[in-house]
Amino acid sequence: MKLPAFDYAAPQTLAEAIALLATHADALPISGGQSLIPILAFRLAAPSLLVDLRCIPGLDAITVSATGVSLGAKVRWCDIEQDERLASAHPLLAEAVNYIAHYPIRSRGTVGGSLAHADTAAELPGIAVTCDAEIVVIGSAGTRAIAAQDFFVGPMMTSLAHDELVTELRLPPWPPARRWAFEEFARQHGAFALAGIALYYDLQGGVAANTHIGVIGASSKLQRIAEAEAALNGRVVDEAAILETAKAAAAAVDPADDIDAPAAYRRSLVETLTERALQRARGR
Ligand SMILES: Cc1cc2nc3c(=O)[nH]c(=O)nc-3n(C[C@H](O)[C@H](O)[C@H](O)COP(=O)(O)OP(=O)(O)OC[C@H]3O[C@@H](n4cnc5c(N)ncnc54)[C@H](O)[C@@H]3O)c2cc1C
Repeated sequence: MKLPAFDYAAPQTLAEAIALLATHADALPISGGQSLIPILAFRLAAPSLLVDLRCIPGLDAITVSATGVSLGAKVRWCDIEQDERLASAHPLLAEAVNYIAHYPIRSRGTVGGSLAHADTAAELPGIAVTCDAEIVVIGSAGTRAIAAQDFFVGPMMTSLAHDELVTELRLPPWPPARRWAFEEFARQHGAFALAGIALYYDLQGGVAANTHIGVIGASSKLQRIAEAEAALNGRVVDEAAILETAKAAAAAVDPADDIDAPAAYRRSLVETLTERALQRARGR
């Protein structure tokens, strides 16, 4: 399908890009184009101007330091996949990214595009919320670092202003002894998940502490599942604790009935995936 007509600009700096967005009410940034181009093709958006971020330098670094992992907005899925430091610096991220899309999409799709697109079934936004990440954005009013749980306000909705661009995702440091796993179910490899679970916990005195459990694909908002986290915190991670946590997760989510799956099926996936993730986490 042909795209609607639009003007095109490829600014050389963030300041120029922001100025273009600020002065064109229906302009949109484009990064990898892997979500936006289909949106244009289906006439779900018809911007008068596309502001291409490809020529803007300084947004494609992956930084690993004592303060955690930073991913620039133009870091692509294949860049994350190929960065061997992430297997220890952020194994949950490294595992989750393996599930994203197919190779041609993985070589173009970006961190900034995925965060701004805010699909509730997308892996990276799910990791950002689960791990208490910060999303750095810059616009006419300056720079802000937004907690991921405040950045995502609903399906495909964020707290970004029209003239703000995502520049960076900051993930907190990852202790080496942490237990973790990512599990998802999709109809075929590379398709969006019908449901997915990202989780981690730390062991303190033999019991689970600091449990973080996030859900994708089976909730109207990207969020952690507080009820499931509470079910595990303070307990020895045995079979009973795992099963009760999985049941608590399933009871707490609010999946939609839609063309891809009934709500009850997604809820049951959440239970199964939470159980599987906890079993794998326990063995790590
Ligand atoms: C067949 C197929 C399967 C896919 N499967 C998956 C999957 O399993 N999991 C998954 O997570 N994704 C999947 N995707 C989506 C893919 O990962 C996209 O690349 C990603 O969601 C968007 O990244 P992008 O760089 O292509 O963004 P674009 O398409 O360029 O932009 C997406 C949106 O973000 C805005 N935007 C882009 N960059 C910025 C920025 N820096 N600041 C502010 N706004 C910005 C754009 O205006 C647009 O609204 C799939 C895509 C396809 C086509």
